[in-house]
Amino acid sequence: MSVSQPSSPPVREAPENNPFEAMLARFDLAAAKLELDEGLYKILQTPERELKVAIPIQLEDGSIQVYDGWRVQHNSAMGPCKGGIRYSPYVNVDEVRALAAWMTWKCAVVAVPFGGAKGGVCCNVRDLSQREIERITRRYTSGIIDIIGPDRDVPAPDMYTNEQVMAWIMDTYSMHTRGIHTGVVTGKPWGLGGSMGRREATGRGLLTMVREASRVKKLDLAKATVVVQGSGNVGGTIASLLHEIGVRIKAISDIDGGIVNESGLDIPSLLAHIEKHRTLDGFEGGELVSNEELLHMPCEILVPCAAENQITSENADRLNCQIIVEGANGPTTAGADAILDAMDIFVIPDILANAGGVVVSYFEWCQDRMGYFWEERDVNTRLHKSMQKAFRQVYRRTRKHSVNMRTAAYMEGIDRVAYYQKLRGLYP
Ligand code: NAD
Repeated sequence: MSVSQPSSPPVREAPENNPFEAMLARFDLAAAKLELDEGLYKILQTPERELKVAIPIQLEDGSIQVYDGWRVQHNSAMGPCKGGIRYSPYVNVDEVRALAAWMTWKCAVVAVPFGGAKGGVCCNVRDLSQREIERITRRYTSGIIDIIGPDRDVPAPDMYTNEQVMAWIMDTYSMHTRGIHTGVVTGKPWGLGGSMGRREATGRGLLTMVREASRVKKLDLAKATVVVQGSGNVGGTIASLLHEIGVRIKAISDIDGGIVNESGLDIPSLLAHIEKHRTLDGFEGGELVSNEELLHMPCEILVPCAAENQITSENADRLNCQIIVEGANGPTTAGADAILDAMDIFVIPDILANAGGVVVSYFEWCQDRMGYFWEERDVNTRLHKSMQKAFRQVYRRTRKHSVNMRTAAYMEGIDRVAYYQKLRGLYP
């Protein structure tokens, strides 16, 4: 493998809302700081494999619809690829590429022995029956079956997919391969090889991040207010965990808008409302607010847990918080980074902040391989230790190299993957 000196990183002039370009912009910055070898630079910025599949389905009304699906494996130097599957009407290959690469760096930052991958199916689950979602899931799984597996690539839930979808993937894979292969996916229901604590893991990891960030910023959590964008698995869990320890959640949203209550929302009632109605709409414990307004509300901690490209060069200067903990993947564009730095907002980046999900996915994969299942307390204790250690390592890098938390996290991740990539060398 080449050990030549790095050339200067190329200047990128891509659209701000392209998530893969946003990933590459941060990658370039960190690679330059690390003085990454030029050969490794080329390998690590290029996805290893991209598979596009057509998913023809018969809908309940008898008509045929064909959906697009992708699985992208970014890098497998550290182990089998790992990453969620998202069902969204907006998903495209660049988004899946970015999400796959973020998984590579994320696994490395929290030192789990996986590479990075991601999958997506372009569909709107709101318009589909359970039976239709099951058909899409089974056909998508059969389309990507040759490249997934417990030792190859292990999917998990992401936006608009859940434990049920993982159970269908596990069943489809097992039927095709004539065996029971629980380790082919994580985030499965408990009893089908799922782990205690996996559903809450990403939110629970965010809680460790909120505590660590408050500690270094000397913020008294008991007096702080928090705004959460998104109220699904990640947003709902972090809101609930913070509420449990007495932190005031001032506002929360879903895709249709948000709800605000200056004295603090009743999170258990709000989540019960969402569980019943599948929307925040109609909850009476606060005032309505738009998603854009929600981002600009004064608070100490903002926790974006919805989609990409929410904090951009257009709106970053209107934010009114001290700390951002990125529950979502890619909620901040590369163009917004410098603005947030100038405003002295302490940002815990996605590849560190939301890594709790993949940490417990790793625990689940281990439990499936052992056939021995842990108690929830053990899962949560180990998760907290992994997240705390990762935060402290990244924070030390910020001090050592005078960079922000995002660049430090990319440096941590890239450094580790590059080390293993170099050890493995080039095949053939
Ligand atoms: P989810 O489907 O359970 O919930 C998504 C939430 O975001 C919903 O409340 C939805 O209404 C809202 N939303 C969607 N688009 C929005 C928009 N444009 N504006 C405002 N709100 C919007 O999904 P999730 O699993 O909670 O994932 C949320 C984010 O966290 C995604 O970026 C995902 O990649 C990331 N993430 C999830 C996990 C996990 O374990 N589920 C792990 C790491 C990162």
